[in-house]
Amino acid sequence: MKIILLGAPGAGKGSQAAIITEKYGIPHISTGDVLRANIKQGTELGKFAKEYLDKGELVPDEVVVDIVANRIKEEDCKKGFLLDGFPRTIEQAKALDKLTEIDIVINIVVDFDLIIDRITGRRMCACGATYHITTYSSDTCKACGGKLYQRKDDTVETVANRLEVYNKQTAPLIEYYKNKGILKDVNGSISIQATFEQVQKLLE
Ligand code: AMP
Repeated sequence: MKIILLGAPGAGKGSQAAIITEKYGIPHISTGDVLRANIKQGTELGKFAKEYLDKGELVPDEVVVDIVANRIKEEDCKKGFLLDGFPRTIEQAKALDKLTEIDIVINIVVDFDLIIDRITGRRMCACGATYHITTYSSDTCKACGGKLYQRKDDTVETVANRLEVYNKQTAPLIEYYKNKGILKDVNGSISIQATFEQVQKLLE
């Protein structure tokens, strides 16, 4: 099964991706994670991408298309994969169409007023766990004991720009995949588990 998770920043793509990939045994491909790992390691790609991420801008299409094209060629992607945060522009979607055929696009729909609160209250751990300050007050990860941190682009200043970028460049993908007949909406304003139950119905 080849799946795309679509949704605004803070819609819960990462949380759903973690559950789906675990349950269905397919790789989780997050272009944001790949870029952040490169920034952390100080690679040429990381140095190039950092400025875009810090501002909440999209890195150029060819950079992310290249990342995905190489990743989906790997052996573990033969049985399918889940794309999280890619594609984010019509150009990326068209490039992806040339590389492979996607089975389903799950669009996580969330009320916009919830998004700002979700993103600015989000805290991450290097192990991949995420928390929200209203439901978890410690600064230590309960899964691995790591120190929690706030993503640099999860601040109030950057979120506004990320949402604008989403509206202008990514939201048109909803129509693009609707026209292909593979888009399915789920409600992401409810709990992670309740959203996953909707996803599961679509995948079975
Ligand atoms: P994410 O973790 O998906 O929220 O992505 C964080 C940041 O990485 C975005 O704000 C962009 O700067 C960059 N990024 C991730 N995926 C893409 C993509 N498909 N196209 C362009 N930029 C991306």
